[in-house]
Amino acid sequence: MEKLYKFPLKMHIGKPAKAIVEVGDVIKRGECIANEDGLGAKIHSSVNGVVRKITKNLIEIKADEIQSSEFVKIKECDSLIDYVIEAGVVGAGGAGFPTHVKLQAKIPKGYIIANCVECEPALKHNVYLIENYPQLVIKGIEYAMEATGAQRAYIAIKGKNKRAIEVLKKTLKNNKIEIKELRDMYPMGEERAIIHEIFGIWLRPDQLPLDANCVVLNGETLANITRAVDERKPVIDKDLTIIGKLKSGNKPNVELQVPVGTSFKSLIEKYGGIDGEYGEVIIGGPYTGNAQNINSSWVTKTSGGAIVTIPLPKFEDNMGLLVCACGNDEERLRDVAKKMGANVVGVTKCKNLEVIRGVNKCKTPGHCPGQVQGIIYLKNLGAKRVLISNCSDCSNTVMCCAPKMSIPVYHHTDHVFRTIDHTLTRRLPME
Ligand code: SF4
Repeated sequence: MEKLYKFPLKMHIGKPAKAIVEVGDVIKRGECIANEDGLGAKIHSSVNGVVRKITKNLIEIKADEIQSSEFVKIKECDSLIDYVIEAGVVGAGGAGFPTHVKLQAKIPKGYIIANCVECEPALKHNVYLIENYPQLVIKGIEYAMEATGAQRAYIAIKGKNKRAIEVLKKTLKNNKIEIKELRDMYPMGEERAIIHEIFGIWLRPDQLPLDANCVVLNGETLANITRAVDERKPVIDKDLTIIGKLKSGNKPNVELQVPVGTSFKSLIEKYGGIDGEYGEVIIGGPYTGNAQNINSSWVTKTSGGAIVTIPLPKFEDNMGLLVCACGNDEERLRDVAKKMGANVVGVTKCKNLEVIRGVNKCKTPGHCPGQVQGIIYLKNLGAKRVLISNCSDCSNTVMCCAPKMSIPVYHHTDHVFRTIDHTLTRRLPME
């Protein structure tokens, strides 16, 4: 059966890239197939093959039967930033911001922060990367320090990842890079939450890490910087976690360096396929991922992984939605409510949420302002249950008031966490 790989022209923040190949072109793994058009990033083929289709959204390549890990190297460059541009490096943690733009900052009195928090509970590939290839991340930090002039750096990682921390301590030879152990709560990986934990300051929702003299880069992004500079390797492979209701069991399966464009269906099949009846296939993490059709989901430069869940419970009654800025949005909550058979009677947002340039932003991610008002509002609208997407701290405060008002709570991650035997987001210890 022919193997097709799909490369969306927008795997990053900014404008879609412009295809520079034509249907019928023979392509080698590593070859550039689309150039940036303003803010954006180049896209390279992850396979040897032939261009089958080009639409305004994607390039489809029919892969040769025999593939190899070899790749066409990016050209030699004069500067570190040019290597990052040529390699098409973008934030691998999900946002996809073009990395060369971040590296253009000049912060001689500032800091590089390696975001190795891996905030989404089901995903394990970032920590696995550190445990097995710490040098890729550390060298990426040093390159980022060189590009920006930053004199110091922090590696932000959850304290619970003891093995990864031990490996980092053994590998680190640079006394300008410090490990910062963070608490295990959601959304500890949010950039402003990390900056608050390290420096004790809250940036406003409309401010960027640069306003605190920081450039924050995900661990896998840093590894991609190292690969771009040392191996002249473009971003053609992605680290992922495949987990959930699989015939091989519900434990996480880490896949390092899967070719971009691979179908998620083939990755799920690698682990025996879906184990019987299921609820959703979520692409990304439990908090921020979205349910997608398994037949039309492809690995991109920002994919986190795939989670197959148990069926959602039925709740065919009035439901109220409480939306968080750092968890998932109203659209996702409506999707979950619909799948439960619920009738949505009202929607409210966490009072810490501000809309900045059309995007939900939290004033103090992970620090709850109290949720009583929102729950009373939804109860008064006739809600018999609330569906929430809140952070750990806010879920605690919801649990302090909703049950007293006889309003049961469903967190939108519940069916995911039940699938993988993870503690539900309810009353959680905050230390
Ligand atoms: S304080 Fe509110 S908006 Fe912020 S992370 Fe918690 S639930 Fe989300």
